[in-house]
Amino acid sequence: MSTSAKSRWTTAEAERLYGFNRWGSPYFSVDKEGHVCAHPAADERTVRIADVIKEAASKGLKAPMVIRFQDLLRHRVERLNKAFAASIEEEEYPACYRGVFPIKVNQLREVIEEIQDAGGDHSYGLEAGSKPELLIAMAMHQDSDGLLICNGYKDEDYIRLALNYRKIGKEIIIVAEQLSEVQKIIEVSEELKVEPLIGLRAKLGTRGEGKWAMSTGDNAKFGLASMEMLEATRMIEKAGLSESLRLLHFHIGSQVPNIITLKNAVVEATRYYCQLQKMGFPMGILDVGGGLGIDYDGSRSNYESSTNYSLEEYARDVVYNVKQICSTMEVPCPDLVTESGRAIVAPHSILITQVFDRISKRDSLVPVLKEDIKHQVVADLHEMLHGRIRYGNLEIYHDAFQKKNEADSLFSHGYLDLEGRAQAESLFWQICSRLEKKMSKARGYQPEELIGLSELLSDQYVCNFSVFQSLLDHWALDQLFPIAPISRLNERPTTNAILADITCDSDGKVSKFIGLEDEKSYLPLHPLKKNEPYFLGIFLVGAYQDIMGDNHNLFGRVNEVHVFLEEDEEDGFYIEDTIQGYRMKDVLEGVQYEAKYLCRNLKQQIDKATKADVVKPRDGVRFMELYEQQLQSKTYLDIQYKKKRRNATKKT
Ligand SMILES: *Cc1c(COP(=O)(O)O)cnc(C)c1O
Repeated sequence: MSTSAKSRWTTAEAERLYGFNRWGSPYFSVDKEGHVCAHPAADERTVRIADVIKEAASKGLKAPMVIRFQDLLRHRVERLNKAFAASIEEEEYPACYRGVFPIKVNQLREVIEEIQDAGGDHSYGLEAGSKPELLIAMAMHQDSDGLLICNGYKDEDYIRLALNYRKIGKEIIIVAEQLSEVQKIIEVSEELKVEPLIGLRAKLGTRGEGKWAMSTGDNAKFGLASMEMLEATRMIEKAGLSESLRLLHFHIGSQVPNIITLKNAVVEATRYYCQLQKMGFPMGILDVGGGLGIDYDGSRSNYESSTNYSLEEYARDVVYNVKQICSTMEVPCPDLVTESGRAIVAPHSILITQVFDRISKRDSLVPVLKEDIKHQVVADLHEMLHGRIRYGNLEIYHDAFQKKNEADSLFSHGYLDLEGRAQAESLFWQICSRLEKKMSKARGYQPEELIGLSELLSDQYVCNFSVFQSLLDHWALDQLFPIAPISRLNERPTTNAILADITCDSDGKVSKFIGLEDEKSYLPLHPLKKNEPYFLGIFLVGAYQDIMGDNHNLFGRVNEVHVFLEEDEEDGFYIEDTIQGYRMKDVLEGVQYEAKYLCRNLKQQIDKATKADVVKPRDGVRFMELYEQQLQSKTYLDIQYKKKRRNATKKT
């Protein structure tokens, strides 16, 4: 750590180190006792995360666990709608904002319900990207006066569903992603004798940036290039459906880090919009898609895990640019639609995982006495550690590294025994530790290899969760998420660690973290205490992560609690809903093993062993009971802390 080791550690320093004051504002902070607090409504009302964990435990739900703050979700919806309302007023924009929430970003019913409830006053609608999502959208839309927008690839049934909904008087717009869909919309409309509302998705030339940039450009999967756009208008006109063309849509990709990209896309799309309007189609709505990002690393930059703009700036830019282009083109300003998903839901949920073990290179060092040394390579390393040092740090490191490799190779060839190798390894790590200590005190430029020592020496904290279930984008796309301990932030974290999950996949780890300036390859954490659980929070995981997780190693869904603010409660909140994570039975059935079948198979084996007198009948029955009980248990580790045995001396 670069700050003087002598200075007193404060919670303000913890806020700075873990970035709460950057990515966390205004929703997360650290209190004076060193606990992480949530401010779901971005006001003075506060919930300690540790209290939620305790309350959940009293309801039988343990980590790994997702905590959802319903009030935070509500706050996001209101913030987006207010930002557009404010920009519209400021710019005297002569039309309105009619946002929709893209269901794919978090399909959970409680999430959609909360968003709809919060959006009720703002005519906030829904977007569907597939047939199953359309089924959700239609059922959940109820009396909303928000739009319902249909994206994604569509077959005839998708269109038939949507047009039936139109027939009962709803404002549902089918966005054609390609020419064949235009044809299908025309045919099914004739069949159902209904006037559709049609939108066209433009394939923009403006290129996205960041990890999800493939949604535009000439090779994008979706959208109509200008020639196809022209052809689509001819088809619509010829079918006598000119009055049906109402909307132009684009989606440039998710998590766009740079506001300039978004501006360029809005400008290009508005030109398309104006052209279509001038061709005589009624139009009326411009849908600028998703892409509004979240500043995961808090750097406010155009790095991939960040954004160089705020939600408010985004709203102003959309409103301003559309107005500018429309007035130069002398076209009436359209109603504005956004399909922001990530920006609405990412901050509302936290994944809680418990660290239950530590793998450390420094834990099992063996003492090496000079008289016990039997091999030259060990003697050389011993001399490096204890003798007079004549060389620079980098040279010492290189020499030690070479000697360690030599020891490994001597062992492989049978010239060094296990004890000798353990001695060599111990000495090597001690040399590295010493170099690292010197490094951390040194100022100015340091060679990269030496900087890498901190990473090499960092501990592994083993956490009860699966990266593949709960943090998929970190594994697949190296996306960074803020991670911090939930308590003890009034203590200086003195251990550098990377996180390992409980899958038996070596990719199941987190070794990239947000840092003060740059990405870091380890996270400063506290030493574990015996018999005291240590929880980490992984923040801003409410978009995509919840829902995309897979069943790698058959762990599956984690427990979940839904938290509401409540002033009458002692801790300021209550848990309204809980969702149980998967039991082993659930995941096994997902891969076609019925519990009954499994039990029968095991029972046959136990019976055979009992008959052959290999096992006592009573033990056989107990084993069978354990197996059946485990089928009903959760998939993740059940971490128990030994209670202090009060009657330890009592004879049994
Ligand atoms: C995924 C998607 C969105 C949501 O994007 P975010 O970046 O999460 O806001 C919106 N519209 C379409 C068409 C999408 O495919």
